Amino acid sequence: MADDTAPRHDFGPLEKQALDHIWIHSARWLDLAERDGLRVLVRGEGSTLWDARGKAYLDGLAGLYLVNVGHGRREIGEAMAEQAAQLAYSSSASYTNLAAVKLADVLAGLTPGDLNRFFLCSGGSEAIESALKIAKQVQAMRGFPRRYKIIARRGGYHGATMGAMSITSSRNEKFFGPFMYGVSFVPSPNRYRNDFGIDGEAGDLACADAVEQEILAQGPDTVAAVVGEPVSTANNCHVPSPAYWQRVREICDKHGVLLILDEVINGFGRTGTMFATEQFGVVPDLMTMAKGLSSGYAPIAAVAVSERLYDEFKKQDVALAHLLTFGGQAVSCAAALKNIEILEREELPQRSARQGRYLLGKLEALRAHPTVGDVRGLGLMCAVELVTDKATKEPFGWGLAAAAHPFSRRVTELMEERGLLTRVFMAVHLSPPLVITTEEIDRMVAIVDESLTVAEKELGFS
Ligand code: PLP
Repeated sequence: MADDTAPRHDFGPLEKQALDHIWIHSARWLDLAERDGLRVLVRGEGSTLWDARGKAYLDGLAGLYLVNVGHGRREIGEAMAEQAAQLAYSSSASYTNLAAVKLADVLAGLTPGDLNRFFLCSGGSEAIESALKIAKQVQAMRGFPRRYKIIARRGGYHGATMGAMSITSSRNEKFFGPFMYGVSFVPSPNRYRNDFGIDGEAGDLACADAVEQEILAQGPDTVAAVVGEPVSTANNCHVPSPAYWQRVREICDKHGVLLILDEVINGFGRTGTMFATEQFGVVPDLMTMAKGLSSGYAPIAAVAVSERLYDEFKKQDVALAHLLTFGGQAVSCAAALKNIEILEREELPQRSARQGRYLLGKLEALRAHPTVGDVRGLGLMCAVELVTDKATKEPFGWGLAAAAHPFSRRVTELMEERGLLTRVFMAVHLSPPLVITTEEIDRMVAIVDESLTVAEKELGFS
């Protein structure tokens, strides 16, 4: 039986050893060293994780927004073992394998419109790199070699590799600049702090119009693509009106610009439908997917490409100058196939919509906190935005910097002590596995509530 009351930082040799050789992603040394060890997770079941000390946690973030079918799915492991025993790998360049063929076929049945061609790869950043290259090559093949520019949205996140980082507005200029040439950023829909000071759908549409203004400012014959997440997690889950994406789609079509929608987090039920684009009534030219494609059981990602775009490659008989060794890796494809089978069999996208509505309803009560400025979300992708002052909407820091504020850090620590793992940036992010039960949602919200109360009292915000 798990001991849910184990004291915090009860670290032993294993947790101390964890600091010796692993390079923890995106973490400062002192933050890790201060704790004198790193929590080591050893087991998962549904929405619960256990660490090496036997302490149980609710997985409030489904790992990193991806364990959609929940932890401990033995049948995915069995499908992977079977595939590995049969054939683990076939060249991504010259041949393919049975699992990849089946996966592409299943995906074609799920993706909207004519997104029927799949470039398989290993992670979200790779999918984005691939989408950018496909978009640029298509524009050049159409006779527009000067169309190389990319318009992205402020606050969005598209990954950590060079191209993906270049189209992410929080990119670190000091360490990694100069970035890919020709990227510019436009405001993102935000009903809480709209860049134009306009409320509601009109504010979203002002953001859509900003896309057109940027295309015109750059020169339409120089722009390859517009890229964005249907609902941006990095930008703390602001849900735009469908009219926003529909207008962006019209603008792209008007100016011969391709639309890349990044469903790396949104896809596979996270927002209450298999893909978020379904709820916005648009079909992009390219759609990236990763994370929930295998629910984290294996590294796999894909770019769904419209038949019209692939036709250009067919007609001109030109290869996409892009090869990734692990594209269509058979064991990963087998994991994705089984994962999708579970998502459909258990109707998890629908469950996400249902449980998401319940979660959001419960979160409404948190507005009573002096530090809670807003709550919002779509499906099981929710955010509780934290502010130092409700009247001014002053955040604890902008973007990622908010995570370093003592208040955010204390809330994170208090939640962990009480058995909830999640992240706090400008908002407390709640994106649990789609199998989360109503009782677990109640417990998760109670922990957030309690942790905020304690931190507010301790740090003088009550
Ligand atoms: N796109 C979006 C919307 C993401 O949220 C992420 C990662 O969180 C990525 C792309 C990059 O994915 P990965 O970390 O698998 O490279």
